Amino acid sequence: MTETAAHPAPTTAAFLERCAQLLGPRGLTTDPERMDTWLTDWRGRYTGLALALAAPASTTEVAALVKLCAAHGVPIVPQGGNSGMAGGATPDASGTALILSLRRMNAIRNLDADAGQVVCEAGVILQHLHDAAEAAGLRFPLTLGGKGSATIGGLISTNAGGTQVLRHGTMRAQVLGLEAVLANGDVLDTLTPLKKDNRGFDLKQLLIGSEGTLGIVTAATLRLLPAPIGRATAWVGLGGIVEARTLLRQMERAMGDALEGFEVVPAHCLDSVLAHLPNARAPLGDRHEWNALIECVSPVSDSTSLRETLESALAAALEDTLIADAVIAANDTQAEDFWNLRDSISAAERALGPAMQHDISVPVEAMPEFILAASPAIESAFPGTRAVAFGHLGDGNVHFHILAPQGAVRGVWEEAEGKAVSSRVYDLVTQWSGSISAEHGIGQMKIDELARLHDPVALALMQRVKAALDPDNLLNPGKLLHAAPQP
Ligand SMILES: Cc1cc2nc3c(=O)[nH]c(=O)nc-3n(C[C@H](O)[C@H](O)[C@H](O)COP(=O)(O)OP(=O)(O)OC[C@H]3O[C@@H](n4cnc5c(N)ncnc54)[C@H](O)[C@@H]3O)c2cc1C
Repeated sequence: MTETAAHPAPTTAAFLERCAQLLGPRGLTTDPERMDTWLTDWRGRYTGLALALAAPASTTEVAALVKLCAAHGVPIVPQGGNSGMAGGATPDASGTALILSLRRMNAIRNLDADAGQVVCEAGVILQHLHDAAEAAGLRFPLTLGGKGSATIGGLISTNAGGTQVLRHGTMRAQVLGLEAVLANGDVLDTLTPLKKDNRGFDLKQLLIGSEGTLGIVTAATLRLLPAPIGRATAWVGLGGIVEARTLLRQMERAMGDALEGFEVVPAHCLDSVLAHLPNARAPLGDRHEWNALIECVSPVSDSTSLRETLESALAAALEDTLIADAVIAANDTQAEDFWNLRDSISAAERALGPAMQHDISVPVEAMPEFILAASPAIESAFPGTRAVAFGHLGDGNVHFHILAPQGAVRGVWEEAEGKAVSSRVYDLVTQWSGSISAEHGIGQMKIDELARLHDPVALALMQRVKAALDPDNLLNPGKLLHAAPQP
């Protein structure tokens, strides 16, 4: 008899029964309707099938479930908020994998305000962590547009970046300790944060950014910082991206450690956001080819002096005709309005039609020249396309999106032309000594490109680490790395 969801093979049925016993009715579903949302990625690029969706409530349950999967040879797709951009949390079409959702594990186990540390479970949503930190007079110094759904486990597993990396680093810099379930069900517990610890390899670093292929993150100890006292947020209009880099360097000198974010938004992106958000308004009167969003915060100085320093730095840039116009947010609400424009670019671009998205990095100094060289190169190689680059200029990381020609059909264009577009972009990035994934990870989207373009020595080493930690290739197979050839 053929195995189907209604008639699973006896071994599969036995496996699901054991899962149900272990997790109880809240912890497991095979109902297609309840699983539906979690079978497609945020961008709508990938849809898969799953044997079931498991949602354990504790690390003990995760460990027992992983042991069960190992015994039955069932692949596991770890999933947090499903806001990832590389299809990493979407199962393949075989329907043989179990989605292991961490969303029920959403407790903040301990927040130590004096130590500036918080221990939270993998399913805690980033926005909830921000709220908890704020209630304690602190803050968690990483944020991004998907903060309403992205979870701590997902952020760690993708080593997420966001808009404050310039000052505070990626997720890797925020993790002081980690708890994870390994492929054989063992629990690795390094939650106690030690400022100094030289007992060999720092294993948590191996798991950070491993996209669920080396272990399931169940909890983490994260660093918290004092809440900012002063904040000054500016929206600046400029004529070019080279000028934006000069402004970045001037701001670094003028604002020092207070400079936390420096994002660039081209006119095309601002136009699409304004068309997408009904009540949004452009911060400046005129339209500028490029805009920069500058965020400065300080835990010590008062907001007046921070604002004055930023004001005089911008006044000097205006006088030198480096910038065309600028406005400093009058209050937090206006600052959030500016950020909302920036954070809505992905959603606004998605509404425009099909596009190939590339989150790429090159050395910060080279980014303007890369944008100026790569945009026309792609547009002329693929007539009708349009290149837009926006985001984290201060980190040498922009989202380099290639919009499909007008009238292109979503789901068709990506296959017919989009993949070739991406390969060309990644070739260029590699020529510029950059990375094909600055922050979103490899997932299933870039697995072939990583295999094609990454240093063979680094790839072989990653394969050996994977084989050592997950010899049966049950943790998120088909993501990040192709299965190593059998000896
Ligand atoms: C509007 C918007 C803006 C965004 N902006 C940014 C940005 O600026 N910077 C940025 O870096 N990202 C950004 N993202 C992408 C996304 O939010 C991040 O990649 C985030 O880290 C994903 O978290 P998640 O919980 O949704 O993970 P998921 O999407 O569920 O999973 C992502 C990957 O992590 C694995 N995974 C998830 N949880 C675990 C776990 N507990 N243990 C092991 N593996 C796990 C999955 O298998 C998958 O490979 C944005 C997303 C949206 C929707």
